[in-house]
Parts: sequence; structure tokens; C-alpha cells
Amino acid sequence: MDMVFTEQQERWRAEVDDFLRKEVTPALIADAEKQDYVTAPFSVEFSRKLAAKGWLALSWPKEYGGQGRDYLDTAILEEQMGYRWAPVEAHRTGCAFVANGIMEHGTPEQKKRVLPQIARQEVIFCEAYTEPEAGTDLATLKTKAIFDGKDYVVNGEKTFCSGFHFADCMHLAARTDPASSRHRGISMFIVDVKAAGVTYRPMKTINHGTMTHIFFDNVRVSPENLIGAKDRGWQQLMSVLAAERTGLHVAGANKRIVEWLAEYARATQRGGQPVISDPVIRHRLAELAVEIEAGRMLSWRVACLRSKGNQIGVEGNIQALFHREIEHRLAHFGMQVLGQYGQLHRDSRWAPLNGIIERLFLKSCAQVGGAGNTELQKNIVAVAALGFERTW
Ligand SMILES: Cc1cc2nc3c(=O)[nH]c(=O)nc-3n(C[C@H](O)[C@H](O)[C@H](O)COP(=O)(O)OP(=O)(O)OC[C@H]3O[C@@H](n4cnc5c(N)ncnc54)[C@H](O)[C@@H]3O)c2cc1C
Repeated sequence: MDMVFTEQQERWRAEVDDFLRKEVTPALIADAEKQDYVTAPFSVEFSRKLAAKGWLALSWPKEYGGQGRDYLDTAILEEQMGYRWAPVEAHRTGCAFVANGIMEHGTPEQKKRVLPQIARQEVIFCEAYTEPEAGTDLATLKTKAIFDGKDYVVNGEKTFCSGFHFADCMHLAARTDPASSRHRGISMFIVDVKAAGVTYRPMKTINHGTMTHIFFDNVRVSPENLIGAKDRGWQQLMSVLAAERTGLHVAGANKRIVEWLAEYARATQRGGQPVISDPVIRHRLAELAVEIEAGRMLSWRVACLRSKGNQIGVEGNIQALFHREIEHRLAHFGMQVLGQYGQLHRDSRWAPLNGIIERLFLKSCAQVGGAGNTELQKNIVAVAALGFERTW
């Protein structure tokens, strides 16, 4: 494993950073955070700018709208976007997650048709997987898609869907073989969010974002929108969830937050002394900087594996678990550094750091579930890394 970036990679990071420093202004961030903030700021306009530069599909094959570059270039872009707090939520679900499922499991026709649309941001995706009674144990999902000789007819409901209200299409997991149980008999579909029979209810989240509960009442989906093979959707779901566990975006964002907290502690007086002169604060900042660097290395390991064409296994779960716990500690420590001011919303004129700690704190409570909760990640690590028996 080579831990040193090449000159070409350093030049690429500088090019990305140069662009982001000009484009990701405080006004853009404020606007994107107002649009949505379930997991990260959201701006369709900004995502389309990235698409126009070809940056959303850097490592995809050219025939699918990509540039055929090394995955490590994508990883550098991701880390730098996290660091500059760039709005990624509009494109990330489609480009980084759903596209991975289509790339690995879609038919050649689907790859040619759908992937370039995602790369150009003509289609924004959301994920409709979780159900009221199927979350961590997604294999128990009950939403059905039954072929009637012409179309698949979908009935059921999905919940906790992020970004539905901005999306054009859902990546839907549904049971195509009702006689089968658990992992077998699940298929993946592309479904228009405005299809006849789709109704929904918004759900406001703890961190001022919006998720959606979706109902499917005899929704017709044409066979061309069954992605990959019928009844083989579980493998595709695993490809998507593996792609969600790459972590460099969050590593970059956490690094920036520690730097912001250090600047704040340097510039702020408490009891006549700069906050940074408190050894407890200094040490905790240093500890967090070390933890974030360790998490970053875990994520770079995953990026290197992907760059060499390997499937991501428990390495992805390990780094996802590590980042989630750091984010939690960082949010709590941020509250300690900012004191009473940490709880102020960004709309308050007294909110330090544009209210970022308030949002991070609330997000860290909500983030227990996205792409597999902490307990699920620990269960997987216990089985895959320590050889324990599977108990679920
Ligand atoms: C920020 C965020 C964004 C999300 N976006 C989407 C989205 O876009 N699309 C989508 O489909 N879903 C989305 N989800 C939903 C997410 O995937 C589910 O919340 C997750 O799978 C957990 O399912 P659940 O909420 O039904 O919890 P449950 O499965 O009911 O679990 C509840 C709790 O029980 C415990 N638990 C459950 N199983 C185990 C076990 N085996 N071992 C130990 N403890 C266990 C855990 O503490 C867990 O937190 C999102 C969630 C969050 C938080």
C-alpha cells in the first residue's frame, strides 16, 4: 500500500480545491442548507455545475458518460468536497450509490441509457428501500412488484426516504416473488416519483431536513425499468450500500470542523483568557485531530481497494462505524467549546460558525440509521472480522 499521493494526484487536489474555494461561498452553503439538510447541504444548481465539468462520473467508463479515470481521483474529489462543505446531496445518491448498483448489475442497455443521464444530472435519484417494518433487517421487506404480463404492479409503502421531494426517480427495492422469503425474490426498479398511484407524506427530521413516507397503490412500472435480473436485487442492494460506506466525504468534513473549532477557540475569550489556553480544550482538539486522521486512513484503504477493482467488505463497515462515532464525539465536543451558543440555529445573529455545531449535533443523533445503524455495523464486524456466529 502506497501512502503517498503522486504529483498528478496533488495537482488534481489543487485543481479541485481551487474550483471549490471560488464556488462554495458562504451564501451558497447557507442557501443549500436551507433547501435541505438530512445528511449534507443540497443544491441542484451546484450539482449540475459539477456535472457540466464531468466531475460526477470521473471514474466511470467513457461509454457511460464518464472519463475513465482512476477511482482515487474520485476519492480525492469526495474528500475535498467534504472539506469545503460543498453541497453534495443532490447528486450523491444517484452518482455515488445507485449508479454503482446499475454499473455492477444493470443490463448493457440500462447502463447506456441511465448512467449518462445520472452523470449529466438530468435525473436525480432517491432510494426507496426502508419500510415501516423493514429497516436494519431489510430482507424482510414486503412491498410487492408483481408482473401482470405487461408491467410490474407495485403495492406497499416505504419510509425515511431522503431527497424524495427533489428527486425525479426512486431506486426501489420490491419483492417480485411473494413466495420467497428474505434475500431471495427481491428486485430493483427505477420508478418515477410522479407515477400514477404514488402518494407521499413529508416527515420533518430533528435537524431541519425532510424525509418522506411513500405509498404505492397499483403503480405500474414497465419491464425496462427492472434493473438487472428479476429476483436478484439483493446483490444490487449490497453493491449500493457498499458504495455508501466509503467515508472520505465525512472525513474531509470532520477535519474542517476541527479546524473551525480551533479557530473559534483561538479567537474567543472566556474568563479573560482565550478558550484555547484551556489544556482540556487543547488536548481534546488534538485527540480529535488524531482520530479523524485515523478514520481518514481507514477510508483511504477502502478507496485503494476500489481503485484496484476489489469488492468492499468489512473494511467499509469498519470505517463507517469509526466515522459515525467520531462525528458523535465531535458534535458533543463542539457544544462544549461553544457553550450556550452551540445550541443556536444559524438564523440567530449570535450563532458561532454559522450554527454548524447545532446542525452537526442534531445530525449526529439522527445519523444512527443511514446505510445501516451502529449496531448493524458492529454485528457485521463481529462476524466478518472476528469470526463470531451470525445471530440475526
Ligand atoms: C439520515 C438518514 C437517512 C436515511 N435515508 C434513507 C433513504 O434515503 N432511503 C431509505 O430507504 N432509508 C433511509 N434511511 C433509513 C435507514 O436506512 C433505516 O433507518 C435503517 O435501515 C434502520 O432501520 P429502522 O429505522 O427501521 O430501525 P430498526 O431496524 O427498527 O432498528 C431500530 C434500532 O434497533 C436496534 N437494532 C435493530 N436491529 C439490530 C440488530 N440486529 N442488532 C442490534 N441492534 C439492532 C438498533 O439500535 C436500531 O437503531 C435513512 C436513515 C437516516 C438516519
